Amino acid sequence: MIDDLPPLRDVIAAHGLSARKALGQNFLLDLNLTHRIARLPGDLSACDVLEVGPGPGGLTRGLLAAGARHVLAVEKDPRCMAPLAEIAAAHPGRLTVLEGDALAIDPLAHLTPPIRVVANLPYNVGTELLVRWLTPPEWPPFWDSLTLMFQREVAERIVAVPGSGAYGRLALLAQWRTTAHIAMRLPARAFTPAPKVDSAVVHLTALPAPRFPADAKVLSRVVAAAFNQRRKMLRSALRGVAPDIEGHLRAADIPPTARAEEIDLERFCALARSVAAA
Ligand code: SAM
Repeated sequence: MIDDLPPLRDVIAAHGLSARKALGQNFLLDLNLTHRIARLPGDLSACDVLEVGPGPGGLTRGLLAAGARHVLAVEKDPRCMAPLAEIAAAHPGRLTVLEGDALAIDPLAHLTPPIRVVANLPYNVGTELLVRWLTPPEWPPFWDSLTLMFQREVAERIVAVPGSGAYGRLALLAQWRTTAHIAMRLPARAFTPAPKVDSAVVHLTALPAPRFPADAKVLSRVVAAAFNQRRKMLRSALRGVAPDIEGHLRAADIPPTARAEEIDLERFCALARSVAAA
């Protein structure tokens, strides 16, 4: 038992919280498991936690039991407000809940640094938020670390190395400004209802400065174009990115006939700098 609140199955039954596919609802009901996930970001007692997509609150309860100073939870489904209010009442002053779309809400007004982000979100929303959190114009960002659940295949793309099939935009953007590793793997049956594929939690820690200088927007644009046509030679995949792309590729020490998969982060950053300087 991690707290005195009722088991999640009872909470879900009491509030009629049948899982909705459109909201990507696959809940974690085992509080021992959510408590383990909540400890992956390390000691939270001096941190505010931004939790995105708390649902009925399994991970939220884990985070509070793990000692988080304050949790700000952003949830789109109005049916989850009542169960989340019960958790807030059991932990006075430690849980704030915002109802709305995490892609539209700016949570910063409600958070005090240091801030860690923890989420078990539908994977498409999670990927979009991850890219936003990794590509602000200025660095370091508002958060110290991100602990995020993904489909296992997406998690593997975040930590992939050059030359592998999983290597691409997510690996480059994540590894440019963070250290990232897979912190836990979960079988599909850990969730209710069980999704079709297994999941994994990725933990990303913000570096004090990016590994190599580059403009975030230009780097994003270059790697997106390079990997959108990953089987093409870079001189044709990147044709729309800048006039004289072959000159930029040579300036970055990249053979124009190479494919995106062969090029490491350092050379993509050099390419982004050359394109930005033109
Ligand atoms: N964190 C809970 C858990 O681990 O059991 C729920 C996880 S469930 C995979 C994803 C949650 O994200 C759902 O509660 C869903 O309603 C919520 N959600 C989906 N899209 C969202 C969005 N755009 N903004 C905020 N919450 C969202």
